[in-house]
Amino acid sequence: MNRHEFFQTSLISSLMDGVYEDELTIGELLSHGSFGLGTFNALDGEMVILDGHCYQLRGDGTSRPAPLGAKTPYATVTDFVPSHRLEVRSPVTRAEISKLIDKVLPSANYMYALRITGHVDWVTTRTVVQQSKPYRPMVEATDGEEIVRTEDVSGSFAGFRTPVYQQGISVPGCHVHFITEARDHGGHVVDFQLGSGLVEVCVGTDLRLRLPISTEFAHAELAPEDLAIQVAKTEHTAGE
Ligand SMILES: [Zn+2]
Repeated sequence: MNRHEFFQTSLISSLMDGVYEDELTIGELLSHGSFGLGTFNALDGEMVILDGHCYQLRGDGTSRPAPLGAKTPYATVTDFVPSHRLEVRSPVTRAEISKLIDKVLPSANYMYALRITGHVDWVTTRTVVQQSKPYRPMVEATDGEEIVRTEDVSGSFAGFRTPVYQQGISVPGCHVHFITEARDHGGHVVDFQLGSGLVEVCVGTDLRLRLPISTEFAHAELAPEDLAIQVAKTEHTAGE
């Protein structure tokens, strides 16, 4: 197994606490990896990065190539080098894919980038809505959010599977974003059924963390007692 670095800016616990602004531009982010996910300053949409292209999926349902000068308060990227491949020829649910991926992974103790390319029978997504100051915690910002169901469409999933010991740094379990092949629709994935496609995994052994230098980050509460509950609720990862 070769060493492989994942680059992350800020912490999921910081996002949970309402630190929605930082100075890292999309241009700089892309210099650290051509694949990944995240969000934008003021929670102005879900981020998907595929093949060096960063897309901004916004709360109003629109999608666009993210401006290189836009900024992100939280994102994880890597240069995706597949080490494991899994061909899916018959429909599988998110839970079933999770089990299939478990079987091919060498250990639950490493980080993994996940890329799925194919045709979904259906996928449910949510998209964060641009917030205004004073920022509310993530649990409140995403309360009552709309979950959109899209059927019978080709597209790509980009995401990460993170060990539970990284609670607070990233989202434990699977965190994936979806974008259609036409790059016109998608979001943070809640659930899906893949009809057919290719699942690829890239093992991460090194984590490079970039922390924001700001008053908001300096004063953020990063270890609340209910952090795991907040993350599961806002990221829809309960049960994984
Ligand atoms: Zn997400």
